[in-house]
Amino acid sequence: TAARLKGKTIVITGASSGIGRSCAVEFARTQPDDLKLILTARRYDTLKEVAAEIAGFAKGVKVHPVKLDVSNPEEIDKFVGQLPDEFKEIDVLVNNAGLVKGVAQAPNISPADINTMFSTNVTGVIAMTQAILPIFKARSDGGRGDIVNIGSIAGREPYQGGSIYCATKAAVRSFTDALRKELIATRIRVIEIDPGQVETEFSVVRFGGDKEKAKKVYEGVEPLTGEDIAEVVVFAVGRRENVVLADTLIFPSHQG
Ligand code: NDP
Repeated sequence: TAARLKGKTIVITGASSGIGRSCAVEFARTQPDDLKLILTARRYDTLKEVAAEIAGFAKGVKVHPVKLDVSNPEEIDKFVGQLPDEFKEIDVLVNNAGLVKGVAQAPNISPADINTMFSTNVTGVIAMTQAILPIFKARSDGGRGDIVNIGSIAGREPYQGGSIYCATKAAVRSFTDALRKELIATRIRVIEIDPGQVETEFSVVRFGGDKEKAKKVYEGVEPLTGEDIAEVVVFAVGRRENVVLADTLIFPSHQG
């Protein structure tokens, strides 16, 4: 895997915490000698902390932190337009940024929360993909790259109180599958990884910062860690070009 990652330029959305942050660290740990990471999220200071952590153990990894809200198309345009020269030839996009707001029956979910979830989890994934595909296609080595979309079990098994979040993840799933078919004749791989329960800031965000409520979500289940998902993401990207992990579900062993 390390040899196949050598020299790659990797964009990760939502790299300030949880799974995205773990992906950044895991890519750097696997290929500490020659790798470029473009780490994006809304919290720029936190991204700089991730960059400092990586600099502490992976001397050959160049990190470019960028403040980027994926729900804002203008910010995405600016992001692509302002990439430094040495980060311009992108190999991998990890569409990881995402969130759930609240637990409520469908009639009680506010238009603002619906918009936040769809514009981040769905439009954000689509817009980032649309922004990066032309970069893949224009590559000097003939057009190739990897798109890794982080979906969720929620996109396959909808649950009460999560209708909008589940709908966003089902949308990601459909988009990913159609895109993979559209790109089948190219050297661009489209990969989806759907986690079950992972203990990150995800539940804290869902409950508006209430850490006690967030902790209760994992009662009775030993959740996965961000590292567990990151290992699969790095494994998928590190396969030889003819191998695509098109659709992978990863659960804690005891999650029903
Ligand atoms: P975290 O809350 O720990 O991380 C979410 C990341 O997304 C943060 O880095 C956050 O950064 C970023 N983010 C949120 N909104 C935006 C935005 N508008 N623009 C850019 N970045 C944004 O949660 P996870 O690591 O768990 O979540 C990562 C992905 O995994 C999500 O897509 C989630 O749906 C999915 N997932 C999570 C599961 C879990 O149990 N934790 C299970 C299945 C899927 P910032 O606030 O700095 O912008």
